[in-house]
Amino acid sequence: MDIRCTPLEESLIRQISAAVQDAGIESYLIGGFVRDKILGRTHQPDMDIVCVGDGIDLAHRVARRFKPHPTVSYFKNFGTAHIRVDNYDIEFVGARKESYSYHSRNPEVAPGTLQDDQLRRDFTINAMAISLNRADYGTLLDPFHGREDLERKIIRTPLDPEQTFIDDPLRMLRAIRFASQLGFAIEQKTLDGICQHIDRIRIVSQERVTEELNKMLMCPRPSVGLDLMYRTGLMHLVFPEMVQLAGAEYKEGVGHKDNFYHTLQVLDNIAPHTDDLWLRWAAVLHDIGKPATKRFEEGNGWTFHGHEVVGGRMVPRIFAQLKLPQHEKMRFVRKLVELHLRPISLTKENITDSAIRRLLFDAGEDLEALMTLCEADITSKNKARVRRYLANFEMVRNRLKEVEEKDQLRNWQPPVTGEMIMKTFGLPPSKVVGDIKTAIREAILDGEIPNTPEAAWQLMLDKARALNLEPVVSR
Ligand code: ATP
Repeated sequence: MDIRCTPLEESLIRQISAAVQDAGIESYLIGGFVRDKILGRTHQPDMDIVCVGDGIDLAHRVARRFKPHPTVSYFKNFGTAHIRVDNYDIEFVGARKESYSYHSRNPEVAPGTLQDDQLRRDFTINAMAISLNRADYGTLLDPFHGREDLERKIIRTPLDPEQTFIDDPLRMLRAIRFASQLGFAIEQKTLDGICQHIDRIRIVSQERVTEELNKMLMCPRPSVGLDLMYRTGLMHLVFPEMVQLAGAEYKEGVGHKDNFYHTLQVLDNIAPHTDDLWLRWAAVLHDIGKPATKRFEEGNGWTFHGHEVVGGRMVPRIFAQLKLPQHEKMRFVRKLVELHLRPISLTKENITDSAIRRLLFDAGEDLEALMTLCEADITSKNKARVRRYLANFEMVRNRLKEVEEKDQLRNWQPPVTGEMIMKTFGLPPSKVVGDIKTAIREAILDGEIPNTPEAAWQLMLDKARALNLEPVVSR
């Protein structure tokens, strides 16, 4: 074979090929699997099979060769079928010709040859096929020189770029995403094609756009994709809030940093430390409130007071706009945006245990993620300064650990609950119950009482007495 596969992949491909030969349906392995095998890159366990004929029929024939038979799921309208064998998702589709009308994303589809199918693929490196047919089993069919483009590290469309991008404008983002994932350049003509057609991105569904954005964020250097989006103008249409961060203004000879490029640097800094998409989103959004809070203060220069709060408030709207999840993940990102200055504020001298306790309490189980974000936020070019900041953070980490061990405040649960307060004093749910609970929490965070049930109980009794409340039951 012209590609090198693992023994399991070889055996899967042989079984598919045996079914292909039985059925006499001309078929090929195509797309990302072939591309990544040639590159020697790990591909997720999926394979795309294109056949000149009925893809659903072929899927059934392949399924029958495995014991137990995998289920064939299929979409009759699209002529596609899927089976899962040994953890591998295998997709079957009949080769097709597509023609698009200008205003719609839904092409007219007709059966076609392998070459027709390769022509409708997005990039030369994604259009390479490996034959599964007896006559030339394992041979690479590469009419657009995708293999050379892999060697030259180039993203290029098989058709005229204009046509490719008009047909499906999502391909503009895919070009940028592949450039970012593979560390490739976009060929000039292809790049020009993108720049000319950015407006067409508006006809693509938000879900498809966001999927590409997420994939860019998960790249080893996410800045490559986001910067290309910015420079082509796609960012302006897809995520305008991000564009607001760009540029540095000067007044009285004083400038501020370009917060767009700072954000990209933070993303690249955080990438080696986390594969959590949501922590990477927190890096994207940590300074998103800066444009709205920017002021020039006489003698003080540029300030962005409260940008973490304003930024936090922007998160739900941005998540809704981008159709990102609205609940737990969004709350996590918002919390990190809101807290991202707190650890830095603890690097000053004479920080009390109380301030440390409050951060432990507020960050809870997300403290590690927050510290990772804050360390990535150090983007100074001055190496000595970076070293000093990192050493300061190490000190903060140690203090957090010390106080945590002593007071066990992370994932803090109130030692006296509202339920207990109501029962003890025979109270209905009311403001006074909340006030007593808050007083206990504040006293613990301020270090006035230890974080123990006994101390909390005693404080509850004292507070209640001051309010002329008597216990109706004892502890
Ligand atoms: P990845 O899995 O990393 O996204 P992939 O190349 O396998 O990479 P898929 O989205 O799974 O990408 O698509 C499989 C193949 O289908 C591609 O390699 C390409 O040949 C073709 N393809 C996918 N999306 C498009 C598109 N929008 N336009 C044209 N061809 C496409």
